[in-house]
Amino acid sequence: MPRQITLPDGRTLEIECVSCALTSGLIESTGGVIYESENFHVHQDIAYPIRGLVILAAKRHFYCMDELTDDEQTEYMSLIHKLRSEQRKQLGIEKVYYFYNEDTTHHFHLWMVPRYEWMYEFGNSVESLRPVLLHARNHMNDDENMKSVEEGVSLLRESMKGFAGHDTVG
Ligand SMILES: [Zn+2]
Repeated sequence: MPRQITLPDGRTLEIECVSCALTSGLIESTGGVIYESENFHVHQDIAYPIRGLVILAAKRHFYCMDELTDDEQTEYMSLIHKLRSEQRKQLGIEKVYYFYNEDTTHHFHLWMVPRYEWMYEFGNSVESLRPVLLHARNHMNDDENMKSVEEGVSLLRESMKGFAGHDTVG
C-alpha cells in the first residue's frame, strides 16, 4: 500500500517502499549517495539529521536476515566493517548503535547510529534511541547542523571510493 512521506525539505511523496525509492534514486538522500554496489546502497538517513548516521540498505526488496544470499552475506559484513572503520577515521565516532528490524515499513536496512555525548541525557542503550532521533528531527534541522551532516556524507563517500573493487554508480 502506498504511503505518504514528508521529506525534511518539505516535499511530500507517495511511494510504495521508502527503501526502494532511495536505492533506485527516486528520492535523493541528504548529501547524496555514500556508496553503492550491485547489492547494497549506503546513504545518510533522510529523516534524522545526525552526522554520520548511516543506513545500509539492500537493493533487493526483502525483509529478513535469513533471506540474504551467500554473496550478500559476505558483502554485508565487509561493508559494515568498512563503514564503521570510516565513521571512526573520518568523523571520530567512538561508539555506534546498530538497529535493524524485520517488521519495517521500509525493506531490509541496517541503521548505524553514532553515539554522541549529547545523547546520554536521553538515557542509555536502546531506550534512548527514539527520544534521541526525535530530538534530532525536531531540534537539529538548522542550517549549521545540516551543513555538518552533509560534510559527514562527503567525507564518508570519499573514503568509500574504490572499496572492494566496486565503483560507485551515479
Ligand atoms: Zn523496497
